Amino acid sequence: MQRICVFCGSNSGNSLDYEIAARDLGRQLAARQIILVYGGSNGGLMGILAESALQAGGHVVGVIPRSLVDREVAHRGLPDLRIVETMHERKALMADLADGFIAMPGGYGTLDELCEILTWAQLGIHTKPIGLLNTLDYWKPFLKFLDRGVEAGFLNPSHRQLIQVRSTPVELLDELRAAKPVTREPKWLKKEIR
Ligand code: AMP
Repeated sequence: MQRICVFCGSNSGNSLDYEIAARDLGRQLAARQIILVYGGSNGGLMGILAESALQAGGHVVGVIPRSLVDREVAHRGLPDLRIVETMHERKALMADLADGFIAMPGGYGTLDELCEILTWAQLGIHTKPIGLLNTLDYWKPFLKFLDRGVEAGFLNPSHRQLIQVRSTPVELLDELRAAKPVTREPKWLKKEIR
């Protein structure tokens, strides 16, 4: 894997552990010569992650809509900042540029990006690995919700397995490197196909 797209909070959370995880991930990406693709902001976990990767000698690509640049949230020190017109264009470009995805703790924006990439995987639009960095068990309720989706017959059990979950960047990056292409099972459960 040469490029990983990281989705993460534009806030940095209430525990120092989130910041530490973002710094660690930035350093690990640089050490493995993996290019970081992310939302291009200088704030929150996003800013911490990008800064850490740059300081460790890594390469970073930011993708940001013009409206957010104008609100001065763009990271001005990035060697490669791609400015797009809409949030949809941004997500499509980030997905195209990456060979795999990681979601760190975050809010609606992070969830939106993660769920879109999962939706595209279950439809077979891409076969790139997807990982959750589960700092402080942040993702536990989300994973529980996915189990509920399987139990209730809305989520194919094999699609529940699309996500690799690890609590440290080292473990997660090792796992993603070893990941096989994601499932090609159809989205729809058998009884829906008439
Ligand atoms: P959130 O999890 O709601 O903080 O949103 C973070 C995610 O949404 C990031 O991965 C970004 O791609 C995008 N995003 C949200 N807010 C911003 C912002 N102020 N600057 C850049 N990207 C943002």
